[in-house]
Amino acid sequence: MYDENSRVCARVDLGAIEYNLEAMKGNIPDGVRIMAVIKTDAYGHGALRIAQFLEDKDYIWGYATATAEEAFDLRDNGIDKPILVLGYTFPYAYEKMLSLGIRPAVFREDMLKELGDCAEKLLRSGVIKNPAPIHIAVDTGMSRIGIRHDKSGEEFVGKAFEVESLEIEGIFTHFARADEKDLSNAKEREQIFAEFVKNAETAAGRKIPIHHCANSASIISIPESSMDMVRAGVTIYGMWPSDEVSKDIIDLKPAMELVSHIVMIKEVPAGTPVSYGGTFVTDSASKIATIPVGYGDGYPRSLSNKGYVLINGHRANILGRVCMDQFMVDVTDIPDVKEGDKVILLGKDPVSGETISAETLGDLSGRFNYELTCDINHRVPRVYI
Ligand SMILES: *Cc1c(COP(=O)(O)O)cnc(C)c1O
Repeated sequence: MYDENSRVCARVDLGAIEYNLEAMKGNIPDGVRIMAVIKTDAYGHGALRIAQFLEDKDYIWGYATATAEEAFDLRDNGIDKPILVLGYTFPYAYEKMLSLGIRPAVFREDMLKELGDCAEKLLRSGVIKNPAPIHIAVDTGMSRIGIRHDKSGEEFVGKAFEVESLEIEGIFTHFARADEKDLSNAKEREQIFAEFVKNAETAAGRKIPIHHCANSASIISIPESSMDMVRAGVTIYGMWPSDEVSKDIIDLKPAMELVSHIVMIKEVPAGTPVSYGGTFVTDSASKIATIPVGYGDGYPRSLSNKGYVLINGHRANILGRVCMDQFMVDVTDIPDVKEGDKVILLGKDPVSGETISAETLGDLSGRFNYELTCDINHRVPRVYI
């Protein structure tokens, strides 16, 4: 009955992932393709398994990762669709990346030169048959990577068109403020981006096939800004970009559950301290359960004395500090509770139907829902259902 997944396991519901993607697809104009953002191991859900699941869905154009290594791992395991590396890629990776058809985000002149030289070499030696596709990143408000949306940016695009070994397949920007109630900033940034791309294309007398700017928040709130392709991230996994984004426009199902089992129950008298530092002391006779999970698994230590789990349809509060590999909860009022009982750390209790969402855990731990699933680390097995 118990196995290597009993201590703790992250159950990832692929049906929920498909449901969420279809909900997003239903909200954007027909024909707009979706780039599945599976950086940081698909926000902790397992990038390879999710890419394999999405590989034959025709509305999925390809994938986005944060680093070249994340992209290599997908290619090494048979993922064929286009992959865009959203961040800066350091030159050591260019040859492997271009050989494998992995698209870099380009925004520095030295990148144009080095990628161009590398692609030319690969074309000459026959490793690649066509100019290497790249995407140009434009900064319209993050002040992060990206060329400026001014004359210097237009000139950059012009120079990129001149590099014959490269093909500008796409151009994109990223919204800093699409997840707010007031969407005026995102809408203004979209206009600035659209205008910039038009000017750059006109100046060069050439067109860039794929313009993209939308993240999850924008897919939900400003679907009219979908352009040729959207980049869906957090919503794939059934989490919300922020609590200001309307939850009435599309329905999402959380894809990850974190499940463990009670490994010890003990009855203690009033006045008993619990965990490091004795920051919690029982005020009456209590029943305390130990859960074999801790911050060594990515379960936040900041849930100490604040979080709760679900056991047999009841809430059980965390008592004292979360340790590296274990924590304790109060099960005094849970009838018939016993060692081996299932514990829901994240997800839906099958008995009561109550859910602990990543948003709830984020609020309780003073963290961000995105951070929470990203931080569930490799010590926690993923099981796909
Ligand atoms: C992470 C990221 C996304 C996805 O963002 P979500 O809020 O998860 O949808 C899209 N584009 C870029 C450039 C990103 O870095």
